Amino acid sequence: MNIKFIQRGWLNGNSVIYDSDKLVIFDTGYCSCCKETVELLKQEGYDIVDFDLIVNTHCHSDHVGANAEIINSSDAKIAMHEYEAYYVNRGDKWATWIDYFDYEVPEYKVDIILKDGDQLNFGNIEMEVIHTPGHSIGGISLYDQSNKVLISGDVIHENDFGIINARVEGSSAIFLLKESLERLRKLDVDVIYPGHGKPIYDAETNFNNCLSRINEFIKDPFKIAYHMLSRIVIFHILRKGRIEKNEYINYLKNCIWFIEMNDLYLKTDPDILIENEIEKQKGKGIIDISDGFITANIEC
Ligand SMILES: [Zn+2]
Ligand SMILES: [Zn+2]
Repeated sequence: MNIKFIQRGWLNGNSVIYDSDKLVIFDTGYCSCCKETVELLKQEGYDIVDFDLIVNTHCHSDHVGANAEIINSSDAKIAMHEYEAYYVNRGDKWATWIDYFDYEVPEYKVDIILKDGDQLNFGNIEMEVIHTPGHSIGGISLYDQSNKVLISGDVIHENDFGIINARVEGSSAIFLLKESLERLRKLDVDVIYPGHGKPIYDAETNFNNCLSRINEFIKDPFKIAYHMLSRIVIFHILRKGRIEKNEYINYLKNCIWFIEMNDLYLKTDPDILIENEIEKQKGKGIIDISDGFITANIEC
């Protein structure tokens, strides 16, 4: 049995591979980086034709990008929580965030429906499926008790968590995410492999930090909006590579998520809001602006 964590940049969700009598991959990156994902897997010694199973922590575009490529080249099946599978298999582009955030995802179907408490068995591993909604209605975390490994998707990152999208996920999303974090905090883990960023070895501190952060979000919902704004603004810049600043501002102002987020929380002049956000990201060194063009300084 070999466990491999493949850390990606901001655009691509991370992948985890369990290599035993079955070759299993948890999450497959973003679609526009599919070739890069296949190449990375090759460098790690894995040919996509050999995969038996894809388990997706949830259906967002940055976690399912190479699903279609892998199933078209192998006999791999795809497993996902029943709520996500329902919307994916119906081709619903709203619940899966595809149209809401203007994503692209090559089509695939879910074969294996997972529910809270299910066990995935491969090699001598028994992995528990834990339903952890909040970021996504059918988000799951996978717990390998024998190795004390938790694969968390976007429920927890290093001192952070995935965005809270109340317009699509509902007003209960933030409370569900808090409950999911509280549930995962009770597990005995040596390492968390998150959906983005590096592995987390000090789980307790991270859960405590995330829970106090979420309590601040509940007290001050403006923070939910700014969290989402900064994540999606960077996400779109990474997707586009290099983009003319005014074109980008006009693009954002017409995005449904931006209009609704502003309407729901901020109620601020869109030009000021976007200009401030771009300046903020520039100040942090995450983006550069020169000759009227924006480029990202961070890895995809
Ligand atoms: Zn993600
Ligand atoms: Zn996500």
